[in-house]
Amino acid sequence: MRVAVTGGAGFIGSAVVRHLVCDRGAEVLTIDKLTYAGNRANLVQVEASPLHNFSQTDICDAAALRSALLDFQPDAIIHLAAESHVDRSIDGPGAFISTNVVGTYNLLQVARELVGKVSELRFVHVSTDEVYGALGADGAFTEGSAYRPNSPYSASKAASDHLARAWFATYDLPVMVTNCSNNYGPYQFPEKMIPLTILNAHARRPLTIYGDGLQVRDWLHVDDHVTGLMRVLDDGRPGQVYNIGASCEMTNLALVDRLISEVAAQTNADAGELARLKTHVPDRPAHDRRYAIDATKVRRELNWAPRRGFDSGLRETVAWYLANGAWCARATGVYAGKRLGLRSI
Ligand code: NAD
Repeated sequence: MRVAVTGGAGFIGSAVVRHLVCDRGAEVLTIDKLTYAGNRANLVQVEASPLHNFSQTDICDAAALRSALLDFQPDAIIHLAAESHVDRSIDGPGAFISTNVVGTYNLLQVARELVGKVSELRFVHVSTDEVYGALGADGAFTEGSAYRPNSPYSASKAASDHLARAWFATYDLPVMVTNCSNNYGPYQFPEKMIPLTILNAHARRPLTIYGDGLQVRDWLHVDDHVTGLMRVLDDGRPGQVYNIGASCEMTNLALVDRLISEVAAQTNADAGELARLKTHVPDRPAHDRRYAIDATKVRRELNWAPRRGFDSGLRETVAWYLANGAWCARATGVYAGKRLGLRSI
């Protein structure tokens, strides 16, 4: 199998690439612009493999993207390249429209050219549950939930989902869309809540909590997301949408408390001292109150189930960030942890 993975130097994309090369023996072309969030070090396990190819390409550059893909002739495309941080989308939405909308359009157009050139192209468009907007206290997002994105990030992802759907309906492009809940695990850029809190707790910096911290997120280990994407890649039906999530809901405040306990336990620190670092700051504009995924469809139709328990997954994740100081130092050199995403700035 020859698989092109866009955004393969990012958090989830690199986990997909590692899995494809190391566990499935697939030949992979990683396509990545290497923005602040992309890092070749995320691919160190596959760099020496003859199965892995890397192209530093911006998906907004239609000609370069076309040339890389027509040259590689993939049987499958897994599309993860995106601007992915909500706070940055508030400060600078333009890059989100360019990459997430125009970049996706460019990719769908090249994929149309590939159909017919390769035996049976499959295209997995990776998206987020944030396109559905915010939930109240009850219920969970299904594949039939209305799209109600509230941030420039989720609106740009929603737009890209609509393009994927239309390219299936209009051009018969065999696209499958996945909408997944919040991921955690190694190699996540430390602007996102879990790695940021771990590193800040370890360095005794303030642990910022947006608003009252009672926003609910539904957490999934990145490795379980990868197995879900593989089930969709292998057996998903073109034109279908699959929600992926592990029904692991938690408030942000509860999550920070668990991270504090874990960092304290693993570094022989005083949990009380770390807890005193918690600092409530003004909430994110239009902050969605609750997300939850109903993953019945992918479980029933594709026989997928998450395998990683949250307690052990979080423990291993904390251990990974504490053990990978050089990786973290590179990331914190790029982003020093300043508050982003306040509309007034
Ligand atoms: P990430 O920010 O860690 O990685 C994004 C990657 O895309 C980076 O390597 C970056 O260099 C690359 N990229 C950005 N702009 C590009 C461009 N113009 N051309 C080529 N490459 C470009 O993001 P992530 O968390 O790994 O998310 C990957 C995908 O999964 C995104 O589409 C995101 O919307 C989706 N998703 C993420 C989560 C989550 O919790 N992280 C949950 C559900 C869905």
